[in-house]
Amino acid sequence: MASTQTDREPTFRESVDLMVDRAMAAMGVDKGTATAIKSCNAVLKVQFPVKIRGKTEIFTGWRAVHSTHRLPAKGGIRYAPYADQDEVEALAALMTYKCAIVDVPFGGSKGALLIDPSRYDRDEMEMITRRFTLELTRKGFLSPATNVPAPDVGTGQREMAWMADTYKHLHPEDINYIACVTGKPVHHGGIQGRVEATGRGVQYALREFFRHGEDVKAANMSGGLEGKRIVIQGLGNVGYHAAKFLSEEDGARIIAVIERDGAVLNDKGIQVEELHQHMREHRTIRNFPGAAFVEDGHKVLEQECDILIPAALEGQISQENAPRIKAKMIAEAANGPVTYGADGILNKRGVVILPDAYVNAGGVTVSYFEWIRNISHIRLGRMQRRHDELRGRQMAAMVEETTGSRVPDHFRESITRGANELDLVRSGLDDTMRLAYQEIRRILREEDAVCDLRTATYVAAIRKIARSYLDIGIY
Ligand code: NAD
Repeated sequence: MASTQTDREPTFRESVDLMVDRAMAAMGVDKGTATAIKSCNAVLKVQFPVKIRGKTEIFTGWRAVHSTHRLPAKGGIRYAPYADQDEVEALAALMTYKCAIVDVPFGGSKGALLIDPSRYDRDEMEMITRRFTLELTRKGFLSPATNVPAPDVGTGQREMAWMADTYKHLHPEDINYIACVTGKPVHHGGIQGRVEATGRGVQYALREFFRHGEDVKAANMSGGLEGKRIVIQGLGNVGYHAAKFLSEEDGARIIAVIERDGAVLNDKGIQVEELHQHMREHRTIRNFPGAAFVEDGHKVLEQECDILIPAALEGQISQENAPRIKAKMIAEAANGPVTYGADGILNKRGVVILPDAYVNAGGVTVSYFEWIRNISHIRLGRMQRRHDELRGRQMAAMVEETTGSRVPDHFRESITRGANELDLVRSGLDDTMRLAYQEIRRILREEDAVCDLRTATYVAAIRKIARSYLDIGIY
C-alpha cells in the first residue's frame, strides 16, 4: 500500500515501486502484468575471500537482474561501503524503465560490491575485481549476450578493463567477449564519449526542456539555459561533466557545488574546471580560492536557485528537507536522489522534477552504442567518413562551378568534414534525449491522469515493457 508523507520514509526500492505504482494506476495496468513488470527476476549474492596484505578478507557482492524481456540485461556495478541488496534491486528496476524510455533494447540489471575502495591500492583493487568477475561469470551473471555491467559510483574504465580481460580468459572462444562490459577504455574496446556520456545526457535533457517555452513557464522560469543559476551535488563523473558542459557551452552559472566534505558557493559562478583540478590535487573542495566554503554541504541543497542537480547519491531530498527546497526545478542526475515522500511534497509545491530514469539515461544510451560497436567489431563511422568528405568536396565544387564564386572557407570546412566516432555518439545521444523528452511531455499534456513528468516517464516506459510482455507472452 502506498505510504503517505507522514509515514516512515520508504526504502529506495519501495520508493521506486511506489512511483511505478502511481504510473500504473494512471494507466490502468492489470494486476498480473503489473506484478510481472515490477518483480525482480533474479538476485545473486556472492561472498568470496581475497588475501590482502597476508590476511584473508571476505567480500560481499550482488548482481540483480530485474527484467529479461530484452537481453542482455544492462546496468552498472558500484563499489561502495554502504551498498546493500535493497539498493541494488532498486537500481536494477530503474535500469529496466530507463532502457525502455530511451529505446535501448536491454533488460534492467545492477550490481554492487560492499567495499571502501580508498582502503586498497591499485593491485589489491585489481585482485578483488578479477575475483568478483570470476564469481559473476561462473554463476551466469556476466556475458555479452545476457548480462553486461558498466561503471557506476566507485568504478570506472579501469575496473571495466579488468572485468573484460578476466571474462576473455574464461571464455576465449566467445567472439564477442569484449562486449561483456561497457565503459571500457577506448584502446580496450571502449567508445569515444562514454566517460562524459551521462553528464552530456543531463545537458541534452536540460537543453530539450528549455526548447519548450510552456514547460519552462510551468517551472516559473523564462528564456533558455543562459544565465540560469545551478546548484550541483557531487562533482564525480556525472556531476563534473554536467556542470562543465552547462557552464562552458550553455552559459549557465554554477553557483554552488556540494561535495562529501562541504560545499563551495559563488553567486557570480564557479569555474568548474578549476574546482575539479583543485579536488584532484587536494582530494577536497576545501580552500578552493574561487568560492566561499561552508561545512554543512547538505544544507546547501536548500539554496535558492533555478536548477538543482543532485548528482551524488540516492535519498538526498527527503520528506525532512523537501519543504525547504527553493529550486524551481530539479534535474535528477543521480539515481533516486528524491524519495517518494519528497516527490509528493515537491509536486504539491510546484517544483518541476526531471526524473532520473530519463535525465541520467545518457550513460546507458552510449553503453548501447559501445556494445553495438563491440559486437559489430568496427568503429562507428569507419566505413562512411571519407566517403562523406568526398561528397562534401564534390558539393562545394558543384556550387562553385554553377555560381562562379568561391564557397567561403568556414562552409567548405563544415561540409567537407566527415563525422568521427565522437560526433556520431553525441549526435545519437542528442537525438535520443530529445525524442524521449518529447514523448514524456506529450503524455503529460495529453493524459488527464498523469500530473507530473516522473509519472509520464514511467507511463512511457511501462507501456513499452507491457507491450513486449503482451507480444511475447509470459512463460
Ligand atoms: P562518482 O563516484 O564518480 O561521483 C560521485 C560524487 O559524489 C563524488 O565526487 C563523491 O565525492 C560525491 N559524494 C559522495 N557522497 C556525497 C555526499 N554525501 N554529498 C555530496 N557529494 C557526495 O559517481 P558517478 O558515476 O558520478 O555517479 C553519481 C550518480 O549518478 C549515482 O547515483 C549513479 O548511480 C548515477 N549514475 C551514474 C552513471 C555513470 O555513467 N557513471 C550513469 C547513470 C547514473
